[in-house]
Amino acid sequence: MKIINNIDVLKSELGARKSIALVPTMGNIHEGHLSLVRYAKNYADTVVCTIFVNQLQFNEKADFFTYPRTIDNDLKKLEINKTDIAFVPPEELMYPCEQEFFIEVPEYISKSLEGQFRGPFFSRVATIVLKFFLLIRPDIAVFGKKDFQQAFMIKKLCLQFPMQCTILLGETIRDLDGLALSSRNSHLGVSERAKANQMYKILVNMKEEIFQNKEQEYFNLKFLNQLEDTGRDKLNKEGWECEYIKIINKDFFREPICPKTEWRQLIVLAAARLGNTRLIDNVEIIESNIQ
Ligand code: AMP
Repeated sequence: MKIINNIDVLKSELGARKSIALVPTMGNIHEGHLSLVRYAKNYADTVVCTIFVNQLQFNEKADFFTYPRTIDNDLKKLEINKTDIAFVPPEELMYPCEQEFFIEVPEYISKSLEGQFRGPFFSRVATIVLKFFLLIRPDIAVFGKKDFQQAFMIKKLCLQFPMQCTILLGETIRDLDGLALSSRNSHLGVSERAKANQMYKILVNMKEEIFQNKEQEYFNLKFLNQLEDTGRDKLNKEGWECEYIKIINKDFFREPICPKTEWRQLIVLAAARLGNTRLIDNVEIIESNIQ
């Protein structure tokens, strides 16, 4: 594995490669990231994994400063998993001067769900991802379904700019008890970790309710809203601070207009705080790659 932190070396390394797959990360590499690397390897002869903690996308300073940084371990894990290039750019390479231009993300994405709680997050993510695409020119880029709204946005971004890059989505990798792997899980205290799978369990329960009731006459938006309310109440009663639990149509990123005909496209998304740690997760009614 080549470890690169400079543009000239990156360009000369990539010049000779036939096909390139990109896996962008913020480091603290875990099995979720590694599953994306292995997935990417099926589609390209060169897998580039980037590690860059993008300060501009953090809404809270403390979250940025406490974000786990484990570069030596990360590089070992990437190497074992056959990453060809680890691109670890310094701050001044990605932001050579104060960033004045940002991608404007449509409001149905940027102002809903995660967007309500994370300020300009989506615009900042779109901007850094575009920078990586321009530097690396990947044929394939792999993102995790764990961050579904982000993956949806990047798919749209790639459709609307001529990136000549196919976006693939990897399944969410979970711990044995169902908790989605996340770098932020390391912030959980012992008692918090013991109950951290509750959000996933509630989402799975909502999925089952949808599946079992999808043919009933009362399966409408009101029914779905009641499921959301029940899910939110359960989480809050368990001591979480729920930010949202929402059932949407994953193809259009909006509330279903006719749940009875759209049930196959439904996804349940949630974000909640457990103590000081903010966790997000989602469950699709039927697992599929978004269009
Ligand atoms: P991050 O380093 O958290 O920014 O994540 C980098 C990439 O890994 C993103 O595309 C995430 O969606 C993806 N990812 C994060 N956690 C998981 C997970 N548990 N399973 C699969 N992919 C994940």
